[in-house]
Amino acid sequence: MSNSLHPETLALHAGHRKDSATNAVAVPIYQTTSYQFDSTDHAENLFALKELGNIYSRIMNPTCDVLEQRMTAIEGGVAALAVGSGQAASSFCILNLCKAGDNFVCSTDIYGGTWNLFANTLKDLGIECRFVDPSDPENFRKVTDAKTRCYYAETLPNPKLNVFPIKQVADIGRSLGVPLIMDNTAAPLLCRPFDHGAAVVMYSTTKYIGGHGTSIGGLVIDGGNFDWEAGGDKFPTLNQPDPSYHGAVWTEAVKPLGPIAYILRMRVILLRDMGAPMSPMNAFNFIQGLETLALRMRAHCENAARVADFLNTHAKVSHVIYPGLQSGATKATADAHMAGGYGGLVGFELAGGKPAGKTFIDSLQLLYHVANIGDARSLAIHPASTTHSQLSAEEQAQAGVTPGYVRLSIGIEHIDDILADLGQALDKV
Ligand code: PLP
Repeated sequence: MSNSLHPETLALHAGHRKDSATNAVAVPIYQTTSYQFDSTDHAENLFALKELGNIYSRIMNPTCDVLEQRMTAIEGGVAALAVGSGQAASSFCILNLCKAGDNFVCSTDIYGGTWNLFANTLKDLGIECRFVDPSDPENFRKVTDAKTRCYYAETLPNPKLNVFPIKQVADIGRSLGVPLIMDNTAAPLLCRPFDHGAAVVMYSTTKYIGGHGTSIGGLVIDGGNFDWEAGGDKFPTLNQPDPSYHGAVWTEAVKPLGPIAYILRMRVILLRDMGAPMSPMNAFNFIQGLETLALRMRAHCENAARVADFLNTHAKVSHVIYPGLQSGATKATADAHMAGGYGGLVGFELAGGKPAGKTFIDSLQLLYHVANIGDARSLAIHPASTTHSQLSAEEQAQAGVTPGYVRLSIGIEHIDDILADLGQALDKV
């Protein structure tokens, strides 16, 4: 399958034409833990990575493989790894490069779960996360030192919805020999981070890729565009002999296979040792989701733009947060990185503060009150009383959460029904 096809086409075709055993057109759910070896030689070759093939579903599975290939083609990468959640994907992205004593630099505009993982759990493992304000890309350079192994950011982070300056930070990183890892969860098909210089892309597939709120999953895609070998001692996990795999040096071992050192090591070391594979059933659900992703993203974007316009002229709304309504450098960054729409997320501020935010949410009839984003259904949450309630007022302000802030994840329902529900809930405030 040619990867020069358009993403809409790749989402339906890449990685699978028909099942090799049955000719089935739909991707089969290979609900199996293990795979019969043809012979002892075959088994030995598979374990020695002389031959690539199925061994055990903690490490690889044919249903997951189709999802991996499909997303690799859509993103323009070289290989991918499906894992059990977005959190597992973020953890693996960092642990694949950092050991105790190392550091990495991360945008302050990230999902709260990622923040906790980086600021607390990884800290306990001796890995330091240096958070910087992404509004000035140079902040990444300022805190980089010889122990900095990677940069990490989200393409379209909520609640601020300021698109991350991928190109500028990737360029800084490349000049210092530091790869940029992008969480593209909120912008699939709208932004391809590899086109702007990112080295690795990760997803919580739980959101738009699944699209129907049924399954938790994560994905890491290797751009194959970063010279790990040139980094030498900066990347010991990839350039030094691995005692847990007969002293393999991953950048050497992959030479016959292509530039897949990063993702192969993640599979055969982290997934092998720490677990967290994606289940074949969930991989099937994500493949189903992918088939209509292009249609859904178009509808999410169109509806969100209409919602932003509606809120922007509403008397009870003091401010709307939406990339399409930004101006100046922030808008220029959004336009440079997002093609085909500004995504499905819209934030807004109610003049009446926290009580108004709570009344608004309690008055919704169509929109769901949930903490999730990226579902086909429209969703709403009041962060100050829920997702960000453990933060101090000052921390909430830093995160862009004011008392009257409401976050919407606009779905694909008829726009008139979405606007009617928002309108009647605003009337109650
Ligand atoms: N990244 C982003 C941007 C998210 O919104 C989320 C979850 O909300 C995650 C990562 C974590 O993903 P998961 O819930 O699949 O573990």
